[in-house]
Amino acid sequence: MKYISTRGGVAPIGFTDAILMGLADDGGLLVPERLPQVRADTLEAWKKLPYTALALEILALFMEEDIPRDELKRLVDASYATFRDPRVTPVVKLRDDLHVLELFHGPTFAFKDVALQFLGNLYEYVADRTGSVIHILGATSGDTGASAIEGVRGKKGIKICILHPHNRVSRVQELQMTTVQDDNVLNLAVEGTFDDCQRIIKELFADVPFKRRHHLRAINSINIARILAQTVYYFYAYFRLAEQGHEGPVNFSVPTGNFGDIYAGYLAKRMGLPVGKLILATNENDILARFFGSGVYQPGEFRGTYSPSMDIQVASNFERYLHDLHDGDAGTVASLMERFKAEGRIEVPADVLRRARGDFTAYSVSNDECLDTIARYYEAYGYLLDPHTACGVAAADRRAEAGEVTIALSTAHPAKFDEAIRLRNITQVYPEPIQALFGKPRRVTVVANSRDRVKEQLEAFFA
Ligand SMILES: *Cc1c(COP(=O)(O)O)cnc(C)c1O
Repeated sequence: MKYISTRGGVAPIGFTDAILMGLADDGGLLVPERLPQVRADTLEAWKKLPYTALALEILALFMEEDIPRDELKRLVDASYATFRDPRVTPVVKLRDDLHVLELFHGPTFAFKDVALQFLGNLYEYVADRTGSVIHILGATSGDTGASAIEGVRGKKGIKICILHPHNRVSRVQELQMTTVQDDNVLNLAVEGTFDDCQRIIKELFADVPFKRRHHLRAINSINIARILAQTVYYFYAYFRLAEQGHEGPVNFSVPTGNFGDIYAGYLAKRMGLPVGKLILATNENDILARFFGSGVYQPGEFRGTYSPSMDIQVASNFERYLHDLHDGDAGTVASLMERFKAEGRIEVPADVLRRARGDFTAYSVSNDECLDTIARYYEAYGYLLDPHTACGVAAADRRAEAGEVTIALSTAHPAKFDEAIRLRNITQVYPEPIQALFGKPRRVTVVANSRDRVKEQLEAFFA
């Protein structure tokens, strides 16, 4: 399998080169040159596989030329051995027509562990194999940082530095990042906002001599390895319903920020999994919901919500979907993205929008509706949703067409977002590993909101 850029300016490259490149050199995103097609008899055979065996089958389709199967098996097994549930991503039934896919049983209690545990092991393998130096630099509003650090802590040949906005991430997220004691981890708490952190990172990656000298690598969801790792649980969840006698398509409802998680679902559908509608849920930052409503893709005003991991204005993976929507026509994608840069807006014609609506239906969920959904499900089913998951469940309820069955993806454990849960007077008991964080010593360096101050820290750390 080769990987190409959505903008057509990169010669096809192998999987290892694709993960090391991160963002494509022409500014586009890397995508598989073609999608493997999974036949009905293969789906039937995959039905009985435990999670890791299924992951091996699916991931091998995308990376077997670069990573021998026995090595890939070792990476996959190691990545999911850290999960607290032997099923890795169990499916819980709430009603006949609504099931929850719990993706939060990894080390940091958020779905990002599914991809980042794997990416951490993959980076270690590549560092060992190719002798590449891997220095990861990223900014986080909370979940990605904790999960990325957990994915590479203590790993040979890798260092990681994560910037987070000082005192502006949830208490649990802050503890998850800063209580890690491994020497290959540097936490910088920037005296500014998440946008300031991201701006500093962007400037450092754009400083090509600095980037080269320090071997900087990205960890955000533009990395194709993350998307591929996430396709697995769509198959796994579908098979759990099939096991109970379900036949035919299933909808998936996905709380979305960067369009990463739901794009993985779209790939699963295109590979042949019987997916009905992909129900896209945004919070009040609704750029994606507006796109599927009107065909216009245009950032709005930033809103702080109870689901901060979805508080984004530009969905970085959306370009991959634009590439699919235009049948891989990289010229059109490049000119659309150019226009987006110049005019801050993209509009697709009616026939393209019609196709998009064939696969997706999108809803924006308000802050009140999010909290109401948490309270309502807690009362009706004794099941506590985190605020991100609640957006997805609220969207599934709005869709609710007779005869359809929906699997709602649960992207975080509610304990990570207790600040919001408490607003509806719900008290929860923290799981033991989260409770234990409160007594641990912390390692974090507070830095001024300045690219040069951050640069000084990195010069010393990556030396
Ligand atoms: C990152 C995140 C999301 C959004 O995922 P995307 O891939 O950016 O769409 C949703 N929920 C939680 C808890 C997250 O951490």
